[in-house]
Amino acid sequence: MELSTCRPPCVAGNMLSMMCHQLCKWKDHSRLRFNSFFVGHRRFLKHSESGRRYILKDISCSYNSEKIANVPSYQELVDAKVIYTVAPALGHNQESHPESSSRVPAIVSALKKMELTPSFRGVDVMELQNFKPASVDDIASVHAKAYVSGLEKAMDQASEKGIIYIEGSGPTYATPTTFQESLVAAGAGLALVDSVVAASHNTGNPPTGFALIRPPGHHAIPKGPMGFCVFGNVAIAARHAQRVHGLKKVFIIDFDVHHGNGTNDAFYDDPDIFFLSTHQDGSYPGTGKIEEVGHGNGEGTTLNLPLPGGSGDIAMSTVFDEVIVPCAQRFKPDIILVSAGYDAHVLDPLASLQFTTRTYYMLASNIKRLANELCGGRCVFFLEGGYNLDSLSYSVADSFRAFLGEPSLASKFDDPAILYEEPSAKVKQAIQKAKHIHSL
Ligand SMILES: [Zn+2]
Repeated sequence: MELSTCRPPCVAGNMLSMMCHQLCKWKDHSRLRFNSFFVGHRRFLKHSESGRRYILKDISCSYNSEKIANVPSYQELVDAKVIYTVAPALGHNQESHPESSSRVPAIVSALKKMELTPSFRGVDVMELQNFKPASVDDIASVHAKAYVSGLEKAMDQASEKGIIYIEGSGPTYATPTTFQESLVAAGAGLALVDSVVAASHNTGNPPTGFALIRPPGHHAIPKGPMGFCVFGNVAIAARHAQRVHGLKKVFIIDFDVHHGNGTNDAFYDDPDIFFLSTHQDGSYPGTGKIEEVGHGNGEGTTLNLPLPGGSGDIAMSTVFDEVIVPCAQRFKPDIILVSAGYDAHVLDPLASLQFTTRTYYMLASNIKRLANELCGGRCVFFLEGGYNLDSLSYSVADSFRAFLGEPSLASKFDDPAILYEEPSAKVKQAIQKAKHIHSL
């Protein structure tokens, strides 16, 4: 990793001190709280064999009450339909950069405005707070230790210069808080995996997790950052699901408009992690050709489906039915993780697909149904791209409605007048080729 030119500082001192304070709070309480919950869950399982219902709060008394105040009870978790975490990385920001610190707050504000937060929805929607940042060991399950320690050391340089650029990373910037905030983002995903898996032991329809996090992760390669991405959040969560929960087979769906090359590379020769990416043909970073199917033992457990520019709702519905469903059914996953990028939206400035709010509702709804059918409903979404704050927020909100089993409000946001005809012949050709290569 090479670090280069500096630009004027863009992180105010106040912001830094606020972030530091917040991070310390997380560090002090979060995984402890969650661990107490998870220990509780294990005991729940033990006791449930004898038919007793066990509420976590009842057995967490060995921790002081201040620390467990926000721990959800096991029953609250089982009753929820959506569980989400918020990690906005407010200090990781560069003026005018599309991957900005406004993204997660814009989503949270839309969720509030559309009455989709816990204060409006009671038990149905849960925000998991006070989660612990990922550890360096968690990150090193996917990334080279030299990269992780190099980035940590680079924070000194970022503190001096305000912001630094990481050469050859497409372009990825770092501020003095980037390292810590990236650990928090990854940790937000791990906490959701823990929650969803725990709930799934007592219900076939556990809550769907959604990590509203940044920086995004799917371009970050094992040896470094890339394409606005610092740590591979979804890849780290996949390894965590295997290592901590004994879930052997992980199915990752990546519908971001760009190829998730980092996740692709991390699991290219791994037969137990299926990586399926749809992306716009020819878009950044240029990888993810249809012929890239995995290597060695992992041959066949990577499926790349580049879609022609202009592909939209019809294309993606067909891809779901004809490619994603049969692939997942054949693979028989233990959990489904989703790299949920919202930059294939027709209004997004970085690409030229024609997804709409309705497309994202369809994807959320169908993926959740697939998880219920194949893996006890275990499913966690991870925010990746999405750079038009309006289409990003509306689409995430409609994804929440899908998880809640409520009708889509896409017709309020989508304007059919701006859409043009999808390239159906080219889409069909691409789908047929993928089906042929993968014997679907
Ligand atoms: Zn993207």
